[in-house]
Amino acid sequence: MRILLLGGTAEARALAAELHPRVDIVSSLAGRVPEPALPVGPVRIGGFGGIDGLRQWLRDEHIDAVVDATHPFAATMTAHAAQVCDEIRLPHVVLARPPWDPGDAIVVASDVEAAETVARQGYQRVFLTTGRSGVHAFRNSDAWFLIRAVTAPDPATLPRRHQLILSRGPYRYDGELHLLKEHRIDAVVTKNSGGDMTRAKLDAAAALGVSVIMVARPPLPPRVQTVDTVYEAVQWVAALG
Ligand code: NAP
Repeated sequence: MRILLLGGTAEARALAAELHPRVDIVSSLAGRVPEPALPVGPVRIGGFGGIDGLRQWLRDEHIDAVVDATHPFAATMTAHAAQVCDEIRLPHVVLARPPWDPGDAIVVASDVEAAETVARQGYQRVFLTTGRSGVHAFRNSDAWFLIRAVTAPDPATLPRRHQLILSRGPYRYDGELHLLKEHRIDAVVTKNSGGDMTRAKLDAAAALGVSVIMVARPPLPPRVQTVDTVYEAVQWVAALG
């Protein structure tokens, strides 16, 4: 039994650590981040070349099953894996960490809608945490942005007034509280990523009465099987026999 583990998340690394070397796995990373945190065991890096490339790669590598443990917003990779596995009848599961309860957050469907909300509500000092690719939606905004991302956004996508912090989670409550206070933030923009690694900003915002604009998750492909936790993913793999 040889398993492709689509990764790029803490859960994927935890799952690799649970399975390797007992199970024959190969983890896959997109290759977006320089010096990525690597899972244990064999790793391949880079896109597959779309649906056709993925289909071919799965055949060439004699893969028997796919666990998609990509980030909940990696919708293209998730759609490709679901489609190909359905076509060639490979067992396939999505490890989908539970979303955060948005609570009082303003829930929006996209980065563009988040930028419109910032303008409409008149927020002036915004903590923008939607990642490098989410920044361009805010490039014409008049607000000031504290932008936190793992790798630097393309300068052409940056809003006029901003400060950039390059860092990688996990983040702790005290640090997030300090950041929001220090920069007099009046709104936090976040994806509904779920998980514990980056949720401290929500708790800090709640404690300070700072507004939260939360981008809702893209829907999963229809009919995919999902599990919520690394433990359940291990069980799913064990049940493959
Ligand atoms: P995406 O938009 O769903 O995927 C775009 C393309 O990148 C895919 O079509 C595929 O290229 C390639 N790709 C994505 N994930 C891959 C993987 N694990 N292994 C090999 N190729 C992959 O993905 P994304 O949102 O840019 O995310 C890229 C990676 O960063 C993922 O591994 C994800 O888990 C991680 N990540 C994403 C976010 C986020 O907010 N989106 C946050 C944290 C981590 P081909 O079509 O050429 O196969």
